[in-house]
Amino acid sequence: MSESKRAINLNAGPGALPLEVLQQAQAELLDFKGTGMSVMEMSHRSKEYDEVIQSAESDLRELVGIPSNYKIMFLQGGATLQFTMMPMNLLPASLSADYIVNGTWGKAAVKEAKKIRNVRVAGTTEADGFKSFPKNLELDPQAAYLHFTSNETIHGVEVFDEPTPPAGVPLFCDMSSDFISHPIDMTKYALIYAGAQKNAGPSGVTVVIVRDDMLERVPGNLPVMLDYKVQAQNGSMYNTPPCFSIYMVGLVFKWAKKIGGLSAIEKTNRAKAELLYKAIDESGGFYSGHAVPEFRSLMNVTFRLPNEELEELCAKEAKKNNIIGLKGHRSVGGMRASLYNAVTLEGVSELVKFLKEFQRVNG
Ligand SMILES: *Cc1c(COP(=O)(O)O)cnc(C)c1O
Repeated sequence: MSESKRAINLNAGPGALPLEVLQQAQAELLDFKGTGMSVMEMSHRSKEYDEVIQSAESDLRELVGIPSNYKIMFLQGGATLQFTMMPMNLLPASLSADYIVNGTWGKAAVKEAKKIRNVRVAGTTEADGFKSFPKNLELDPQAAYLHFTSNETIHGVEVFDEPTPPAGVPLFCDMSSDFISHPIDMTKYALIYAGAQKNAGPSGVTVVIVRDDMLERVPGNLPVMLDYKVQAQNGSMYNTPPCFSIYMVGLVFKWAKKIGGLSAIEKTNRAKAELLYKAIDESGGFYSGHAVPEFRSLMNVTFRLPNEELEELCAKEAKKNNIIGLKGHRSVGGMRASLYNAVTLEGVSELVKFLKEFQRVNG
């Protein structure tokens, strides 16, 4: 299949993967490095697989700049299971944790954590329809941790300056949909997690990065698969890991390094998002952005048309033009274009061209 036949894939997750990565996986599918088998078929205890998981880890460490006092884990259960594992492992029963809520995912994280431990909402923008990140936070100086979501995938709200927790309170972040989309200062965080299928690979694996001192909090009696310490001590291989998904994220990390790392990736992502937001802002109100400009996501661009019939038609017409995934999340409606790392600037130009033509005909 030629490149020209590939869709302009704006799906929110699973989302687009780099063509080069898919081509390499395809080339290695039947015979991985002379083993005569696919990565899917080999023992996770083999020397060849060990090299796969070790290099995925070391490439990620280099790509993001993760110091040696952090463990990297490749876990299953999606980002959603982290909503449970975090409080189970790192929130002692005698304390509570603070959560900042600026969208559906942060709200879900609170709901799950409450089933396990005491949780406070330190700030929320729910009353305003999740268009921004809360400005006035009420932070508990005794909190076991402060949790936030750097990019709310459904509402298209991204925060670029992480909140500053009170002294001594560790910062945790759900980075599922903007992980490896721009540089971060890892030392500001004690824990980061990201379901891979938004920006870093296929579904089936969740990257969890945790600072070593956090592991001292892990209680001794947790079910083994839910225990960060067991997972970290066993290099994510206490049981059979999601071998192929880890292989795929490893290829994505190598690709990200090859194209210049996170600064170069951020530059392209900014150019892509600016192009689309500009088209929205210059449409004379035919298209209107959801998030307030300061918190507009570079990853998930959410916008509305004058009515739902036009939104329906727009997504349908886009599909005819090979532009896939433009419909917003079923819970909020509207339109959403997810511009993950693998979506090209050319793809976004095509989208903008399409939106202008759609307005000309229907505006
Ligand atoms: C998609 C998403 C989740 C849920 O991820 P799963 O891997 O499907 O559990 C959580 N948080 C954010 C920010 C997301 O985008």
